[in-house]
Amino acid sequence: MSRFRCLTCLGEYEDVLPDGNLYFHACPPATKKQVKLLDQTITTLPLATALPVGATLLGLVAEERANKRDENIKLNPDGTAAGILTPGAGQLKIG
Ligand SMILES: [Zn+2]
Repeated sequence: MSRFRCLTCLGEYEDVLPDGNLYFHACPPATKKQVKLLDQTITTLPLATALPVGATLLGLVAEERANKRDENIKLNPDGTAAGILTPGAGQLKIG
């Protein structure tokens, strides 16, 4: 059993769950602010970003990460494992 940090979402996880089953990390969606800018354009901003002058906060939305890591297994046409679905920014072994 090893502990990892996902370099896309910075989540930390172990590759084996307490019940003994394998765990395959997939980055959760990122929560962002949905805002209407002064020119009436609607866009999303990271949570830590201050609202631009004249912008209106419309709410929070879940948005898929652009460089998502998904360790679930991709299969070849013959059913053999071809690797993980998407590597994202990678992972770092931390324990
Ligand atoms: Zn992740």
